[in-house]
Amino acid sequence: MLDEMLENIRHVSQGPVWQPMPAPVREAFKAAPLPATGQELGALYEQFTRYVQPYAVGNRHPRFMGWVHGGGTAQGMLAEMLAAGLNANLGGRDHAPVEVERMVIRWAADMFGFPSDATGVLVTGSSMANFIAITTATRHVPDGQNLRQQGVGARKLVGYAAQSAHGCVARAFDLAGLGEQALRRVPLDTAFRMDMVALERMIAQDRAAGLEPFLIVGTAGTVDTGSIDPLNALADLAEREGLWFHVDGAFGALAVLAPEFAPLLAGLERADSLAFDFHKWAQVPYDAGCVLVREPGVQAAAFAQSLAYLSREDRGVAAGAPWFCDLGPDLSRGFRALKVWFALAGFGTQKLGQVVTDSCAVAQNLARRVQATPRMELLAPVTLNIVCFRVVVPDVDDLDELNGELVKDLQVSGIVVPSTTRIGGVLAIRAAIVNHRTTEADVDILLNTLESFLDVRLAHSQMIKAMAGGVAG
Ligand SMILES: *Cc1c(COP(=O)(O)O)cnc(C)c1O
Repeated sequence: MLDEMLENIRHVSQGPVWQPMPAPVREAFKAAPLPATGQELGALYEQFTRYVQPYAVGNRHPRFMGWVHGGGTAQGMLAEMLAAGLNANLGGRDHAPVEVERMVIRWAADMFGFPSDATGVLVTGSSMANFIAITTATRHVPDGQNLRQQGVGARKLVGYAAQSAHGCVARAFDLAGLGEQALRRVPLDTAFRMDMVALERMIAQDRAAGLEPFLIVGTAGTVDTGSIDPLNALADLAEREGLWFHVDGAFGALAVLAPEFAPLLAGLERADSLAFDFHKWAQVPYDAGCVLVREPGVQAAAFAQSLAYLSREDRGVAAGAPWFCDLGPDLSRGFRALKVWFALAGFGTQKLGQVVTDSCAVAQNLARRVQATPRMELLAPVTLNIVCFRVVVPDVDDLDELNGELVKDLQVSGIVVPSTTRIGGVLAIRAAIVNHRTTEADVDILLNTLESFLDVRLAHSQMIKAMAGGVAG
């Protein structure tokens, strides 16, 4: 299994990015009954190689450019194997795996300019990291500790994020019991960043209406366009207004490792909390997100419980407090820290920064090529690694439909996988360059394939029109 998977990763670029699962394969999974007796491991492996491996989403492939997916590494896979072999539970107690996680949390704090006594925990992803940070912020308001017993219902807490904020921020408001309406959506300026004038006005209006502003969420690398909210200005405003300043840096925060992009993130180091992913730009295999909270004790104040069956001792297995289960909702937790350690220590921050630099260069090259192509237009400035563009041709009634169908054509072809979003009301083809394996040759293939599929569609629709004309005539 080990040898074959290493070979499979080595040759990943030679196969299709993605291929649809044949109906019989899907049906076999749907119909499989609960097994009463065990099968040989070899037989299971055989099923894995035939029915699972060929039909994965494809994010390891250099031409997977959809959404924001990391590519993973072979050494990450080996770390996962070791972690599973050890089967450690990092909820707490006194053992070396916990110390490894403390180390990577300290390194993360160092990476982003947080103090070395900042607290943090590895989680599934930035969705959970944002939820933990936002929940922590609710408990940091005046008398916020009481909210743990009484719930947030008695208060009129409201927070602010740009319209471009990721959906998980609204979900965190929902899960925290604040309600999605308590998240005020601030309009964007022309550079797709949070509009500071609008934000100030909204805070003043909410205060005047008797509401209780408590939080500003800035995004470092928005999911649509990769834009970065004005972090220093947000930090200043949060300070003046006495609000918690949280940054969602899911993928973009990693740009601090690239010297030429780090200045764009100035102000990130002033955040009260930060959510980011190791499984995106840092190439750690899924799943590996992280939350950091600047001020020691605050995160534990939001989550820690006192339970007889989890008592902390001065020696023995139950020593080693504080425990990671005090910093979020999870008690049992896997050894994600091992693969994060292997990535940070195995590649070093310079090489990880180089991946950021290279992906951004590939994105800039794509943007330049789009601008040089008569039938295409760029839909947003390229700040980091995300390019939003579309095909524009005369005499097509519905450009959204054309672009959407072209993206599906590309995906189904297995040649290249971009995704879509909407920019300024129109459907955009969106390419996010996150995978360390992606090169400029891959964006050439993206654009060349897109143009040839466009030609096919246009020729087809002309034929239909001609035929319709013939019938009418
Ligand atoms: C990916 C992403 C998230 C969600 O992170 P998950 O790891 O998928 O939970 C949140 N915010 C931004 C900006 C993202 O790109």
